[in-house]
Amino acid sequence: MRIYVCVKQVPDTSGKVAVNENGTLNRASMETIVNPDDLSAMEQALEIKDQTGCRVTAVTMGPPPAEGMLRELIAMGADDGVLISGREFGGSDTYATSQIIAAAIRHLGLEEEDIIFCGRQAIDGDTAQVGPQIAEKLDISQVTYAGKVEMDGKLVRVMRLMEDGYMTVEAQTPCLITCVKELNRPRYMTVRGILECYDKPVTVLDYEALKDEPLIDPGTIGLAGSPTNIFKSFTPPQKGAGVMLEGAGREAVRGLVERLAARHVI
Ligand SMILES: Cc1cc2nc3c(=O)[nH]c(=O)nc-3n(C[C@H](O)[C@H](O)[C@H](O)COP(=O)(O)OP(=O)(O)OC[C@H]3O[C@@H](n4cnc5c(N)ncnc54)[C@H](O)[C@@H]3O)c2cc1C
Repeated sequence: MRIYVCVKQVPDTSGKVAVNENGTLNRASMETIVNPDDLSAMEQALEIKDQTGCRVTAVTMGPPPAEGMLRELIAMGADDGVLISGREFGGSDTYATSQIIAAAIRHLGLEEEDIIFCGRQAIDGDTAQVGPQIAEKLDISQVTYAGKVEMDGKLVRVMRLMEDGYMTVEAQTPCLITCVKELNRPRYMTVRGILECYDKPVTVLDYEALKDEPLIDPGTIGLAGSPTNIFKSFTPPQKGAGVMLEGAGREAVRGLVERLAARHVI
């Protein structure tokens, strides 16, 4: 059994966010972190590894420096890493990103008992689309918003955290599960893991390695293969000064209700 964990390196949104002239993110000039939901996905995979001894592979699509993040995940407990990287993949929207990651997983092999874990959503793109799209493209079941995961052979039982309650869903492997932060508390890298992480394999898959995969086509990857393109990126305007409503009676409440209604808050 092998577990793939899709992990995205994201800009540390507490730091500087830089945008290129063509509207794409200038990832090279920003401090980066591991996407928080993906750390929870990795922790869940490592807990299953602790119980079953399965192999855990961290998979990322990104620029070459993302290899450093893969090594961090190996120091946490992953067995190996896969870096999907190539000029041809740059500028991909969620459709193209999921197309390329699905092609890479197909290329590496997805067996009957395997599971793919993703985070629910990345803190930069914020779409929560990539996980479900990978499942669609690999034609496997998907369960989103995992708040608890239990394994029973090839059966996976997932408690989904919904806005107004819980839902428990069972799925057969192979399947894809997207994880939320509330699922667990990710473990730290170990000292031994840090010492050994540079001896573990990191496979680099570029366009040349994946070009014969049926999902890879110049028309479905990269900027040219993306059905959507960012037209404009900008920082939202700062909020103006607050307004103080005088009085404590019905008049003041009516004034407040009118203001909220005018802004479509209520
Ligand atoms: C309309 C639009 C146009 C865009 N155009 C561009 C562009 O031109 N250039 C550009 O750089 N970006 C672009 N992006 C951003 C790019 O699409 C996203 O970074 C990427 O598709 C991932 O989407 P997301 O961040 O919303 O991830 P989500 O769907 O929120 O991520 C969910 C989960 O999927 C997995 N995942 C997501 N991305 C990766 C990855 N790269 N590697 C491994 N796992 C991953 C992770 O497990 C993650 O937690 C665009 C986004 C949109 C919405």
